[in-house]
Amino acid sequence: MADVENRPSNFIRQIIDTDLKDGKHTAIHTRFPPEPNGYLHIGHAKSICLNFGIAQDYNGQCNLRFDDTNPEKEDINYVKSIQDDVKWLGFEWSGDICYSSSYFDQLHKYAVELIEKGLAYVDFSSQEAMREMRGTLTEPGQNSPYRDTSVEENLSLFAKMTNGEFKEGECCLRAKIDMSSPFMCMRDPVIYRIRFAHHHQTGDKWCVYPMYDFTHCISDALEGITHSLCTLEFQDNRRLYDWVLENITIDCVPRQYEFSRLNLEYTLMSKRKLAALVTENLVSGWDDPRMPTIAGLKRRGYTPQSIREFCKRIGVTKQDNMVEMGMLEACIREDLNDNAPRAMAVVDPVKIVIENYAEGEGEVLTVKNHPSDETMGTREVPFTREIFIEKEDFREEANKKYKRLVLGKEVRLRGAYVIKAERVEKDENGEVSTIYCSYDADTLGKNPADGRKVKGVIHWVSASKGLPVEIRLYDRLFNVPNPAAAEDFHSVINPESLVKVQGVVEPSLANAKPEQGFQFERLGYFCLDNVDATAEHLVFNRTVGLRDTWSD
Ligand code: ATP
Ligand code: MG
Repeated sequence: MADVENRPSNFIRQIIDTDLKDGKHTAIHTRFPPEPNGYLHIGHAKSICLNFGIAQDYNGQCNLRFDDTNPEKEDINYVKSIQDDVKWLGFEWSGDICYSSSYFDQLHKYAVELIEKGLAYVDFSSQEAMREMRGTLTEPGQNSPYRDTSVEENLSLFAKMTNGEFKEGECCLRAKIDMSSPFMCMRDPVIYRIRFAHHHQTGDKWCVYPMYDFTHCISDALEGITHSLCTLEFQDNRRLYDWVLENITIDCVPRQYEFSRLNLEYTLMSKRKLAALVTENLVSGWDDPRMPTIAGLKRRGYTPQSIREFCKRIGVTKQDNMVEMGMLEACIREDLNDNAPRAMAVVDPVKIVIENYAEGEGEVLTVKNHPSDETMGTREVPFTREIFIEKEDFREEANKKYKRLVLGKEVRLRGAYVIKAERVEKDENGEVSTIYCSYDADTLGKNPADGRKVKGVIHWVSASKGLPVEIRLYDRLFNVPNPAAAEDFHSVINPESLVKVQGVVEPSLANAKPEQGFQFERLGYFCLDNVDATAEHLVFNRTVGLRDTWSD
């Protein structure tokens, strides 16, 4: 069992503690029930950490259940990606993977049971008529003319529905509850509909499919779930959840508890909208590093620990809120600050020639991989007569605040020597193309002997030994904190959310593994792209900058 002291606390865990204390339950069983109609996103991670985290901490079980009652929208590829993402986040489901579709036989029998009890009927009203009869929040609904069809007739009609004798949309099965209930979901909700669709698990066996509200509670009960945790939009539906279980013959009675969804600034969290970004090629795929999907975050360089830590920090409550992007970024920054080896890269190179450094010569410097963690060891970095530095790290003139290289002044090259800019060469546009410098050979690992103070330190990469790379600089995908509130999210897409540049990195990075995080000194955290990078064409993604730039 996990360290009790370090467990998160929230109202759901308090309910569980009470249930255990009162002897209502002796073992805890939760489930994570994604619909396989898209990739998982950071909002799902909140639910995963909650459900699997509870199972871990209480020595219980957590099922992974595909809530697959919508055959047209679902896809086997999503089933696979969801499993990968759950495992990558560091969780394991108990037993085999579950599918709501495995319960279609049982669900059908329960529907028949409701019909037999006079609690469900086949309705031939048009969708429009049903909508009109449903009433509004202030007006009660009206009973359907099909509401009082006899049990025998309903049984026969439902059998015909199941046999494919009616067209899609011609009729549906509704629970007979209360058309004047203050809860709209209780006004004779549809529980079965006709769909002539191929299902990724059950093939062409069915042409009637159960609705979510009918399926979910029964699936929970069949799996022996004790605490069914879902987001707040299902609060009203809890009445229907309980009603179904009270009116069928089933042993286990799970309880549903609701918590608030995660909303994250500058992102969308609806799978429908994320799917639109993908199908309209506004991003490169579900795993585009700008996407809030688990696959996107992983490709961006987020670690499973950082996402779990984020979910711990945001907590679980019933309050709706919008979480700042800075909070997610702080989690990965803290993780990588401790755990990512350092390396040098230049994203916008300008050449330096060190004129008093012997031509053709070079040396190998030994540099620490981490400033404070000795266990991370050292690496070799080649130093040569020609190197690259960042364009923005050089000025012909600057005031004292500018602690980088200035014409006629000195600066230290990280892990190497002190150099002095002597003169520049410019191209036809008047831009500095080469900076000619001298170096002080007696400053490797020590200050200048005569006591000269050199304040600035800049990063660099050998021009002849460095590796050319593509660097992808990512920014927020949307220009506004709440793109979900925009009338059309297309109008608030940030056109500069991805800038690709050609940079150069130190040769040790040829050994980088996909997704492995590095701190590129003074630039931020980067990782090797897990899709487009090859040995001949290295591609690094910027995970996050060194400092929080969101709150500026
Ligand atoms: P979306 O609205 O993005 O399509 P969904 O709720 O339809 O999401 P499901 O696949 O049904 O997606 O979700 C599986 C589980 O994850 C559900 O229990 C759901 O409540 C939870 N979940 C989905 N989005 C969030 C979120 N933003 N924050 C917390 N939990 C979420
Ligand atoms: Mg859903």
